[in-house]
Amino acid sequence: MSQHPPPIRQHPSPNFSARRDGLVPHMIVLHYTGMRSTEDALDRLCDPGAEVSAHYVICPQGTIWQLVAEDKRAWHAGAGTWAGQGDINSRSIGVELVNTGAQPFPNPQMRALTTLMRGIMTRHAIAPQGVIAHSDMAPERKEDPGPRFDWRRLARQGLALAPLGMGPDLPLGPSLDAIGYPVASADKRLQAFRFRFHQTASGPETETEADRRRAAAVAQAFRAS
Ligand SMILES: [Zn+2]
Repeated sequence: MSQHPPPIRQHPSPNFSARRDGLVPHMIVLHYTGMRSTEDALDRLCDPGAEVSAHYVICPQGTIWQLVAEDKRAWHAGAGTWAGQGDINSRSIGVELVNTGAQPFPNPQMRALTTLMRGIMTRHAIAPQGVIAHSDMAPERKEDPGPRFDWRRLARQGLALAPLGMGPDLPLGPSLDAIGYPVASADKRLQAFRFRFHQTASGPETETEADRRRAAAVAQAFRAS
């Protein structure tokens, strides 16, 4: 595997502003575009009328496009909170993966992502627990990057946290609070948690002992880090 950083193509978007209150990025928010083509995604993220953007877009073949400078505030996260903090756009770098949501994420795209993330996390001293899904901070509104995204691959490389085994059977709600999940309906919080930390879960949208034990282990990992 090549260790050379992937080439980054510039595709500037007008959709950005200054980070508020002197905030600097300490998080990365991962997204899928929900669109079929890279061109459509770039067009939308650069359309002044759409008022959305991201710092980076990665196409399925692994090409990385930079739309917004890292010191600027891109408009990718929208309303939501994580670990009790709002204005996630001012606190994060946003990365969009071109994917409809129904496809697997191809290896070249994942390889480009992990290389890009390593650079971002080094430049801004971002810890693995600062890497979240869009659905984590907005479970009522968002499902990306969805249940097909390979969080374990990131965790193995120290680029995100993943549950290490099972914890004790504790109530789910307080564990999800401790991880950082915002207030939301119980079923949407459970869905967001499963997308991220319990991707093999199936069946009805009601919590199981496996959800609770896993959440307790994740909460422990977030507390310890
Ligand atoms: Zn998103």
